[in-house]
Amino acid sequence: MTIRERISEHVYVFRSTMYAQVNAGLVTTDEGCVLIDTLPFPQETREILNFVENRLRSHVRYIILTHSHADHVYGAYLFPEAEVVGHLLSRELLIKHTRPALAQARQRNSALGEVTLRLPTILTERQAALRVGGFTLHIYHSPGHAPDVVNVYVQEEKVYFASDTIMPTPYFVNGNIDSLRRSLLAIKEIPRVEDVVQGHGEVLLRGEVSTVIDAQLAYLDKIEAHVQEVLAAGGGKEELNQLDLEDCGLSRIALNGLVQQLHRANMYFLYGLAKRKQSQQPAGQAAR
Ligand SMILES: [Zn+2]
Repeated sequence: MTIRERISEHVYVFRSTMYAQVNAGLVTTDEGCVLIDTLPFPQETREILNFVENRLRSHVRYIILTHSHADHVYGAYLFPEAEVVGHLLSRELLIKHTRPALAQARQRNSALGEVTLRLPTILTERQAALRVGGFTLHIYHSPGHAPDVVNVYVQEEKVYFASDTIMPTPYFVNGNIDSLRRSLLAIKEIPRVEDVVQGHGEVLLRGEVSTVIDAQLAYLDKIEAHVQEVLAAGGGKEELNQLDLEDCGLSRIALNGLVQQLHRANMYFLYGLAKRKQSQQPAGQAAR
């Protein structure tokens, strides 16, 4: 069973209990609903479908996919009538990476047997807005976690869907740490936000948002400095693990402990990038 929360009059959040507490959002209007992401397993997204049809007596008119990662997009096929909205880059990445990965995942996991990808046909770039049934959904490009991430601000409800730009531990292994910093700072600038829905984990209230973002920025600085120190001392990859998430001011138990894997992967990623950069420098320069 997914966890369902009504966070404002017209906005619901559905949270996966099967994988990494992924959040999907639902905006209800008189002209149909807008679904913001889907849940990892068909049986979970089907709960959203049942809720919309049987409880709300409505339908999903649009699905906004916040990025191309499997855990957010696999359920879109359950809404064949809905139009799919996403970033231009998401469409490319879905075709290039998510689709072949799905073909493999289907062989390993029978629960995914009937899943097929839906590609966005309404494509956004830097910024766009969707107007449905009296609601304005602003769609902002928010790269960092991945290059194609978008955030969705439901203006009339003052709800901000941050996708994986905000997670209990920032994660940028498929993206870029500097872009993520800029995207996190950009969220602080959005006025009149009451609730922020992270891509994974619990909904943040207005009072928490700045503190959470500052803690995430501090985390990024801390791991970056740590990787540099280890490298400067000629240390190997294993030595990165001396820095615990709690030393960086973040929870080790969030997302049922999955955050520790994300943290390690972040450091390995930065280490790998720095190593590659070192080896690309001419010998004389590297000595300086
Ligand atoms: Zn995610």
